[in-house]
Amino acid sequence: MKQSVKKIAALLTAAVLLCAATPVTAESTNAPQTTAEPETKATMTPAQLQAQGILTVGAKGDDVTKLQQRLKDLGYLSGKVDGQYGGGTKRAVIAFQRRNGLDTDGVAGQETQAKLYAEDVQAAPGEEKTDVLAGSLPMLVNKEHMVDEFFTPADLVLVSSIIKKDLATVKYKKTRGVSAAVEALKTMLEAAKADGVGKKWQISAGYRSWDDQNNILNAKVNSYKSKNKGWSSSKARRAALKSVAEPGASEHHLGLAFDVNRKGASSFAGTKNSEWLNEHCWEYGFIIRYQKEKEEITGFVAEPWHIRYVGVEHAMYMKEHNLCLEEYLKGIEDGTITVSGGETAEAGTEEPEAPVEPEDMDEETEDPDAA
Ligand SMILES: [Zn+2]
Repeated sequence: MKQSVKKIAALLTAAVLLCAATPVTAESTNAPQTTAEPETKATMTPAQLQAQGILTVGAKGDDVTKLQQRLKDLGYLSGKVDGQYGGGTKRAVIAFQRRNGLDTDGVAGQETQAKLYAEDVQAAPGEEKTDVLAGSLPMLVNKEHMVDEFFTPADLVLVSSIIKKDLATVKYKKTRGVSAAVEALKTMLEAAKADGVGKKWQISAGYRSWDDQNNILNAKVNSYKSKNKGWSSSKARRAALKSVAEPGASEHHLGLAFDVNRKGASSFAGTKNSEWLNEHCWEYGFIIRYQKEKEEITGFVAEPWHIRYVGVEHAMYMKEHNLCLEEYLKGIEDGTITVSGGETAEAGTEEPEAPVEPEDMDEETEDPDAA
């Protein structure tokens, strides 16, 4: 995965050596400087890189037009083909790289350009939607099994179209979830109400697209930057990743996870609603996905408000054996757990399509809107 970086670094070293007679600095050239490029390229202009066959933000001309046209033909570029390598082209290159298992640096170096014309090149998936409940086992999304930006679950519905005000407040009107999961949520809330725990339920999050999660992360990055003068973007991002999942790693992408809390309560844990949820959600096909004693395995700090729909049979097994989803799926894969239907051999096939290499990620905090 890191090969393209090495190749680019090698090319750059060669390029720098070639240019050794005239120092490559900002003063020595009139070409525009890139800003947010990796340090290894800091001393080279886009034009100098382009001369080495490496296209990056700021590059222009026929090479860029050709690159853009190919990205467009493959469904990655939605903007226009204008021969200017800007933010839109960079984004398309990153999407292409992610889908094709390359380093996602947004730079069209040798490896990326070769892959664009390779026989096994993966085009963008277009409008394709995933039936997230089709498999016999629950789909896994975590820091090691990420979805890409094209991932969209089928059967998304507005939560408020199914769950009315007598059961819960839906904090954001646009919150959606996969219909079977929202129906299960409704049944669960009806049961809670019948048990005398019917007040103050609030649904604060459901499905999130890759872009939604990216926006949440960027908002956090910007908030850190505005509160801490002098912080670099990368420092702010590192800090933000301690409380917000990297896009692709959030279970909310499945449309099967919901953040449930008690309206007006500053902390959900310890409330009547939280206690009821912890005791009974399993009976309705939900799991408390991130628990204190499983933090090392799930990679996320405990979140008593985050529930994930997996179906009653799986949920009850995990509850009875005190397993988190990772442990449960591993057990099935290893053959130490047999679920009825005997689907033991296919555990590995139930992961989301095209998992990508996780980037540096840290833990989420107790901010319900971030998880
Ligand atoms: Zn959540």
